[in-house]
Amino acid sequence: MAHVKLHIPGPVEVSEKTFKAFCSPMIGHRGQGFKDLYAKMQPQLQMLLATKQLVYLSTSSAWGVMEGAVRNLVQKKVLNCMCGAFSDKWFDVSKKCGKSAEALQVEWGSAIRAAAIDRKLATGEFDAITLIHNETSTGVMSPLAEIAALKKKYPDVMFIVDAVSSMTAVPLKFDELGIDVLLAGTQKAFALPPGTAVFAASPAALAKAATAKDRGYYFDFLEFQKNAELSMTPSTPSIGHCYALASKLDDFFAEGLENRYARHLQTNKMVHDWAAKHGFNLFPEKGCESVTLTCVSNGARPGGRSVDVAKLQKLVKDQGFLIDGGYGKIKGTTFRISNMGDETVASMTPLIAALDEAMKQL
Ligand SMILES: *Cc1c(COP(=O)(O)O)cnc(C)c1O
Repeated sequence: MAHVKLHIPGPVEVSEKTFKAFCSPMIGHRGQGFKDLYAKMQPQLQMLLATKQLVYLSTSSAWGVMEGAVRNLVQKKVLNCMCGAFSDKWFDVSKKCGKSAEALQVEWGSAIRAAAIDRKLATGEFDAITLIHNETSTGVMSPLAEIAALKKKYPDVMFIVDAVSSMTAVPLKFDELGIDVLLAGTQKAFALPPGTAVFAASPAALAKAATAKDRGYYFDFLEFQKNAELSMTPSTPSIGHCYALASKLDDFFAEGLENRYARHLQTNKMVHDWAAKHGFNLFPEKGCESVTLTCVSNGARPGGRSVDVAKLQKLVKDQGFLIDGGYGKIKGTTFRISNMGDETVASMTPLIAALDEAMKQL
């Protein structure tokens, strides 16, 4: 069967070059070959996140590290900043880890604001917050720098940030932000197959984790640090992913990070322009739209166009492209189109043409 090109917000399209690297012959994970592979990637990962900390590789999807961060870093109470399906879920996950947790919920489509977090942290009840930088379900990007600035006021609170669908598409300067954990899965803007997560932890996070009695083994941050110092991972990693990531990092730096960020803005604008041309509104509040995907309102917002989303998806799929029909409680009243990863103006043009063609039949 012909491949339907992915324009859902993860997993996204994986290049031939990446797949080739993924299929490199297997090596032992405690041997010099693996250490060399990880050691070659380490400075590139550090440059990508603008950090002096070691960047870790976890063989898990993002949720592994998201749960792990809660287990390593929450002792008193965690404030879960919630503005969509993934961030809302982090609250459930915190409770499932046996942690005392409180929801800071805003309406889906809105961003998380520093002022709201500030009011909560001022109570002194919390020793950690979770925040999703780019809420993939609603297409909202919260103002990370403004929120991270609160860390100066609350140095003992652990700032745990999910950048799953924004890392590599926008600048994320870990040390400068001063946050404690920054994580992403590889099947989103990295454009790798699913199955690996990349993350960094601050010295304060490692010190806090050292005082946690029940941080478990698989996601023990101290194990990640200890092993990363030797260019290794705590347990056997997905070595195929490591080869693929090494290939991808070379791609990032060959293109140039600034060019990569600019390209995401450019391809994102193509989708915004398409939506405007057909009379659709966007779901996110103005000024907080994600640059890696577009969440189009299809009746969720007053005014604006709405169509039969299932039919739109089918018409587009028949032309070789998969778009998403909305997530969770906004399924159908929104739909989502991803431009993250390797997409260029040239590669997005046929998608836009297919969407235009579909609209003629709706
Ligand atoms: C996709 C996604 C996740 C979940 O990732 P998994 O790979 O399924 O664990 C978490 N957070 C955000 C923002 C995402 O987009």
